[in-house]
Amino acid sequence: MSMSMTFADLCLAPTLLSALAEEGYVTPTPIQAQSIPMLLEGRDLLGMAQTGTGKTASFALPLLHRLAADPRTAPKGGARVLVLAPTRELVSQIADGFESFGRHLNLRVTTIFGGVSQFHQVNALENGVDIIVAAPGRLLDLIEQGLCDLSQLEALVLDEADQMLDMGFAKPIERIVATLPKDRHTVLFSATMPKSIAALVESLLNDPVKVEIAPPSTTVDRIEQSVMFMDAAHKKTALLAQLETQDVGQAVVFTLQKNIANEVCAFLTEAGITAEALHGNRSQGQRERALSAFRDGTVQVLVATDIAARGIDVDTVTHVFNHDLPSLPESYVHRIGRTGRAGRSGFAITLCDAEQRAWLHDVEREIGRTLTVHTDHPWHSETARHSTMRAPVLGGGPVKQVKPQVKRERKVWTEEEKLAAREAAKRA
Ligand code: AMP
Repeated sequence: MSMSMTFADLCLAPTLLSALAEEGYVTPTPIQAQSIPMLLEGRDLLGMAQTGTGKTASFALPLLHRLAADPRTAPKGGARVLVLAPTRELVSQIADGFESFGRHLNLRVTTIFGGVSQFHQVNALENGVDIIVAAPGRLLDLIEQGLCDLSQLEALVLDEADQMLDMGFAKPIERIVATLPKDRHTVLFSATMPKSIAALVESLLNDPVKVEIAPPSTTVDRIEQSVMFMDAAHKKTALLAQLETQDVGQAVVFTLQKNIANEVCAFLTEAGITAEALHGNRSQGQRERALSAFRDGTVQVLVATDIAARGIDVDTVTHVFNHDLPSLPESYVHRIGRTGRAGRSGFAITLCDAEQRAWLHDVEREIGRTLTVHTDHPWHSETARHSTMRAPVLGGGPVKQVKPQVKRERKVWTEEEKLAAREAAKRA
């Protein structure tokens, strides 16, 4: 691929090119350069890439091009293109992409997801739409109520397929696909390729071209990753100190559980930092308000759990803080991908206690490198750093306490450290 390639070289419709120019897109990203020509030809495609690589435009542009090149009335109660994605946030974001790239095309785009009334969704579907972007659960629900008929569908996209399977959407996807025509155009994106995804690819795609972009460890090269070891009890204060002393623009803080997200959010708010929590226990309205306040910069910090954070796409995020390590190592890569977007650099700082040390090992194995350890802070704990405790066992409920297998050594604090900690605590 030549460095000087532009979107015009990809032979996209002039209306799409002007929308791209208005959005400030000039050069296609590698996944766009590779996927767009294949999808314009009508080939099925398996894309291995994660958010941040520009994958939304890589399927939205050629699909919009094909819809525009073959204008038809959308089938009543159905659609011409269906995109399935795991979370409401991602669904909204993909729909925004279609709307923004397709702004000169006069196409109808609708989103379908649970947690809100189905009234407007059903209304929108009645006359037919060009593009549905949906989370699988609610869509299947509407199909089974006889309110959505996808038998005329022309193209299907599964975005973040691995995440959809992780969230238990395998059956709903299978049942939705059973209602679609066989001779459709199919695209599947997944950041990882476990056996379950390989099986899905085998059953859904017809002789697909495979496009693979930057495995996680290289995608995140622009992100400076480090870890601070400490007792769990110091994490909130340490986080606050980081937010106040580092040059943080906007930050996403990840926690393991919803209640911790709420606690951290309340703590930061109390300390005068604008923060919002984003997790599955909040209503759709609350989640949308939190995200839009973060997008427009009224809120500096978003405190989120893994699932809720998928698809947060805010280019100005300078820092990702892991208040907790994720229990699944691949989540780490998704988390830190919230920063370093659109070619910028970013920082990912992980706070690790003795109990979560084992998860850090898993993360380091996953990304194939060890994180830089920061020891020059008042909370540094060698105990946490060298802990050999078993990782917490996560059930449906709270984290089970696991007995420490190492003796706790007491940290000897210097006067300076004590002062710094007291200052930080005072500020908190
Ligand atoms: P995605 O991986 O689709 O979530 O896109 C990641 C981010 O990159 C989004 O903020 C896009 O707006 C931006 N982006 C995608 N493609 C391009 C491009 N060719 N030029 C500039 N920005 C882009």
